[in-house]
Amino acid sequence: MLAKTKHYMKQANLVGGEWIKADSGDVIKVTNPANGLEIGTVPSSGKAETKRAIAAADAAFDSFKNTTANERANMLRRMYEIMMDNVDPLAELLTMEQGKPLVEARGEITIGASYILWFAEEARRVYGNVVPSPWADRRMMVTKEPVGVIAAITPWNFPSSMLARKIGPAIAAGCTSVVKPASQTPYSALAWGAIAEEAGLPPGVINIVTGKASEIGGEITKNPAVKKVTFTGSTEVGKILIRQCASTVKKVSMELGGNAPFIVFNDADIDRAVEGAIAAKYRNSGQTCVCTNRFYVQSRVYKQFVEKFAAAAAKLRVGPSLEGNNDQGPLIDEASVEKVEELVADAVKRGGTIVTGGKRHSLGGNFYEPTVISDAKPRMRFSKEEIFGPVAPIYKFTKEEDAIRLANDTEFGLASYFYTQDLGRAYRVMEGLNYGLVGVNEGVITTPEAPFGGHKESGLGSEGGAEGIHEYLDTKYVCIGGLGL
Ligand code: NAP
Repeated sequence: MLAKTKHYMKQANLVGGEWIKADSGDVIKVTNPANGLEIGTVPSSGKAETKRAIAAADAAFDSFKNTTANERANMLRRMYEIMMDNVDPLAELLTMEQGKPLVEARGEITIGASYILWFAEEARRVYGNVVPSPWADRRMMVTKEPVGVIAAITPWNFPSSMLARKIGPAIAAGCTSVVKPASQTPYSALAWGAIAEEAGLPPGVINIVTGKASEIGGEITKNPAVKKVTFTGSTEVGKILIRQCASTVKKVSMELGGNAPFIVFNDADIDRAVEGAIAAKYRNSGQTCVCTNRFYVQSRVYKQFVEKFAAAAAKLRVGPSLEGNNDQGPLIDEASVEKVEELVADAVKRGGTIVTGGKRHSLGGNFYEPTVISDAKPRMRFSKEEIFGPVAPIYKFTKEEDAIRLANDTEFGLASYFYTQDLGRAYRVMEGLNYGLVGVNEGVITTPEAPFGGHKESGLGSEGGAEGIHEYLDTKYVCIGGLGL
């Protein structure tokens, strides 16, 4: 382990500028998914510690809301620079707890840093508005204010960058935060606390608690001092949090599950589609919310695509992510491997053909082979369920309208992709897809400059882009009369 990795691996919670243990002294063990070995522990905090974290954030908000946009932009800029100076140790920490290849971990640290820089720039562009008044003797203006204390709950698949997309706009807007990271990957989030301290953020602006999800979530959603909850994770937990937030009418932003379609038309550049498909399927071992869940390939190019795609998938190097140049690491845990096994068994039972992979990797543990299944059918479970693993089901279609209908036949609406060289078709399909993100002839499209968010049950609100900061701002309309005009 690099010395700096050890420095950023905080085994404590951050509350009001103090690194603390849980009141009970209890801890959660954190393990490396590549070998099951314990890396360290973090506090198993609950309601009381969360309450104190919220109080610290509330106290810090009193003065933080009065900092200038320029001051906050400079804080964020310093955080960005610290991130970029420490890409290697932060990537090592991320890979140790999450399992993704180091090259992907470096990419995640870098894109997280880019979100921070983007919001440093956005901080200074929070404009209000002067509205033409319908009254001769009154003037009207609209201003933007920070919402107050926000709470962020994040998942294990992008433990660093998912938080960057929340604390970046929160700080830029002048909000203070209470953060609860996923129990399997808490260190990348706790590292943000250390980075914020190094960057000179006042104590209490970022507070981080680890531990019992339902207790921490219960306090966050019930406590009236919290004005907004921003969540990235499963649709199931997102719905629970929306319900819980109703009692105090908090704002919510939800980045939830996906079931991304990837459509390849007869007129597509097949080699380009295969390249995009590999990235859109096997990145992070298939464990991203924007990973392709269903491939729809038009009949004339079906055989060619399946052969080329399966050949490329079979070449992916699988192995521990801290050793060698592997393309695919382990899945996060045994339960994820079992779920993938169940989905593959269901597909085979219902007539699917395994073209490559289809079983646990010979390395054992949480490793699973990159898998391609042809002859996929709507009745197979992965037509409706998020796979979250390295399995690519390939369905055949004939007509363009069928592809759009099948792609939209899900309650999810996060990412979608399609490949065509026909401009008219590109517009028809892009407009026909009911998804928040559409990649046309591209398999990886996320960037801080663009809004990221799902339609339907994939979420509420946007992260990044010009839209991202507005999720952390309240609008105030002011009417000024008695002007003697
Ligand atoms: P998850 O089970 O929903 O957990 C996400 C976070 O919620 C974790 O921190 C978890 O804590 C916490 N949590 C669980 N139950 C809670 C409760 N009752 N109250 C408050 N917090 C609670 O999701 P996951 O398995 O970590 O992540 C995978 C899911 O995230 C997938 O569905 C994926 O599509 C989605 N995702 C979406 C996006 C997006 O931007 N749309 C991005 C990435 C991932 P513990 O870890 O302590 O249980």
